[in-house]
Amino acid sequence: MSQRTDLALLTDVVNAACRITRRVQSDLIGARRVKKGDRSPVTVADLAVQALVSHRLAEAFPDVPLMGEEDASVLRGDERAAIRAQVVQRVRAEWPEATEESVLAALDRADHRGGRTGSFFCLDPIDGTAGFLRDMHYAVALARITDGRVVRGLLGCPRIEHEFGEGVVFRATLNGGCERAPVGSDDWTAVRVSDRDDTADARICESWEKQHTDQGRSSALADRLGIRAEPVRIDSQAKYGLVAEGSAELYLRIPRPPQTPDTPVRHECLWDHAAGAILIQEAGGRVSDLDGRPLDFGTGTRLSANRGVLGSNRHLHDAVLRAL
Ligand code: AMP
Ligand code: MG
Repeated sequence: MSQRTDLALLTDVVNAACRITRRVQSDLIGARRVKKGDRSPVTVADLAVQALVSHRLAEAFPDVPLMGEEDASVLRGDERAAIRAQVVQRVRAEWPEATEESVLAALDRADHRGGRTGSFFCLDPIDGTAGFLRDMHYAVALARITDGRVVRGLLGCPRIEHEFGEGVVFRATLNGGCERAPVGSDDWTAVRVSDRDDTADARICESWEKQHTDQGRSSALADRLGIRAEPVRIDSQAKYGLVAEGSAELYLRIPRPPQTPDTPVRHECLWDHAAGAILIQEAGGRVSDLDGRPLDFGTGTRLSANRGVLGSNRHLHDAVLRAL
């Protein structure tokens, strides 16, 4: 398949995934039909997207394995019949011939474990599930990784608002730049990181969820750097999109200290960073861990060779690393 058709196909897949997530978010969550603590709508949307993407990729790239965040075990068994039926119903909006069997088979196919060599796709069907459930931000994140490097990334951000309306898809190819378009459109514009080079003017984005990162350390860091603006807190890899398009200069992910001395360090999942990282890099920015090492996507399902994440517009990168 040529580079061009391959990219168009992946874009179609991400747009179809965004249509599914948007319907579930507005039908169930926006309509307040969900009780607090009930995670089933996000489970339905998550699994429906993973099944659809896996099915489409299997047709187009039968030899390329897929690493997906979800697995089908929550759908198996008699007591899961209701949620299974909902997943199939949501998938059918985009894949009309889907059956319970074909949906489960598609989900099961997404079991690749990554590694140093070879090429695979990496999917987070709904990154930022907490935001999805709050009727806020989330992202559909799809990347291709070859020999430990991300070579392509697509990020559907249905809740990012812009002058052209709500919903943006970002996409980037290694050495091919980064661009964005409204969800469902073919109206692509190249994006570049911002050229602000004074740390005092930097805009930081970080997780909405307080438990995901150490916001105390990031706020102390912002003070040391003389940053005036309040941080932009938003769920999911949408943060990478904001830095890539120049709406923010820094994406900070400082791990929280382990709760007890025996708690193992939490390494980031590949699918939480692969699609996003290439966006910033191809938009002219830089991504590393908090020690300045490039993110290594060849270590399995986790970024086990890295500690935390710093994404930047490049100009401010070294100053932040020094201040960390
Ligand atoms: P964000 O909104 O940037 O925090 O991204 C959401 C992602 O954070 C989810 O997909 C999770 O994989 C990840 N996550 C979940 N729990 C934690 C945690 N305790 N620390 C760091 N990241 C987490
Ligand atoms: Mg995620």
